[in-house]
Amino acid sequence: MASFVNSLAAAQALDAADPLKSYRDRFHIPTFHEKQVRYFTGNSLGLQPKSTQAAVQQELDDWAKWGVEGHFHGKNPWFSYHELLTEKAARLVGAKPKEVVITHSLTTNLHLLMVSFYRPQGKRTKILCEAKAFPSDLYALESQVRFHGLNPETDLVALAPREGEQLLREEDILAKIEDLGDTLALVMFGGVNYYTGQLLDMPGITKAGHAVGAIVGFDLAHAAGNVVLKLHDWDVDFAAWCSYKYLNSSPGGVSGMFVHERFAMRPDLPRFAGWWGYDKSTRFQMEPGFKPMEGAEGWQLSNAPVLGMAAHMASLEIFDEVGMERLQQKSEQLTAFLEFLIDDLSTRHGDRCSFEIITPREKSRRGAQLSILVHGKGKALFDALSAEGVVADWREPNVIRVAPVPLYNSFEDVYYLAHLLEQAILA
Ligand SMILES: *Cc1c(COP(=O)(O)O)cnc(C)c1O
Repeated sequence: MASFVNSLAAAQALDAADPLKSYRDRFHIPTFHEKQVRYFTGNSLGLQPKSTQAAVQQELDDWAKWGVEGHFHGKNPWFSYHELLTEKAARLVGAKPKEVVITHSLTTNLHLLMVSFYRPQGKRTKILCEAKAFPSDLYALESQVRFHGLNPETDLVALAPREGEQLLREEDILAKIEDLGDTLALVMFGGVNYYTGQLLDMPGITKAGHAVGAIVGFDLAHAAGNVVLKLHDWDVDFAAWCSYKYLNSSPGGVSGMFVHERFAMRPDLPRFAGWWGYDKSTRFQMEPGFKPMEGAEGWQLSNAPVLGMAAHMASLEIFDEVGMERLQQKSEQLTAFLEFLIDDLSTRHGDRCSFEIITPREKSRRGAQLSILVHGKGKALFDALSAEGVVADWREPNVIRVAPVPLYNSFEDVYYLAHLLEQAILA
């Protein structure tokens, strides 16, 4: 591991050597008492790229200028607007363009995908998920099980960490999959857990799920734009993600869907249909009888919310320019620096307060997030950070979640976070 030093000068030296340092300036950083905040909640709502306004304004202008004819005559015709996003989104998640579509919102997409890919039959009825899944996912999973007349108590298997542990062990996931065997219909996990920041071995889980004949899908809300993904090569069946966390594409912004190409030409797959999923060459003949588009586009219901799509476009352009590999390289270093500083605080002030990092220590098992369990002091510490313009996330009973986002967070931000924590400990 790189050897770090706990000082402002060291942090500034890391910033000076950072090949991605100029990207910070491409974002609006909120202010607090006229100073830029130290923003560590890009895993909840990413910051606004400065280019977003012009991208949205373009569509407002075309709407003003063209009215309905903007669908075909605008600069970026709305009829096919979503197609402008497809290749960039596909590169972001390691997919073929045909396997990806940007549409709807995340929970909606999870439902639409489960309608097609959770097909309980005979004794193969169970879904395996994580016990600490994001609440919306748990509600979606439970309601899908009930929708098929089954009982979540028996058919939704939620895997928890072992007694006294915070993280899921990969070996336990694999063992559970094998154990459920031919009763397992679907495996659905968050690729990166929102609470612990644990990055799962998605290719390993996919392989194990397929080995027992199950379908494997992932919620990538905390993974897309955060870690390198190779959904096609990993052979994942389906996935969905939102665009407003690491992807900086406006509050409640549009979602992405991945459907592996082996399902591209499967018009027989049951699905909830809408006109935008209809074969586009004959969509406007408006005939009864649904003929889906090939690939992920066949899961679209509605025409695109263009203003939200424009915001996503502005952000995807930045991701495409940087590339996830370079972003991940900086991310690993930035998070490792934070980890070093937090450990240093525990070492020097352990008698007053110590920090237990529950996020995995290995860089291959996490992205740009540390979840830190505070021992000895509690919410007062977090409130002291907030009072100094640090924006982080507090979860009861005593966890601080911090996301050092490589596009716009600096090593200096990270230094200040630790510095202010230290002051609060000593206060
Ligand atoms: C943020 C998040 C959601 C939010 O769902 P929306 O439909 O966008 O409101 C769902 N699941 C996970 C895992 C999330 O992290």
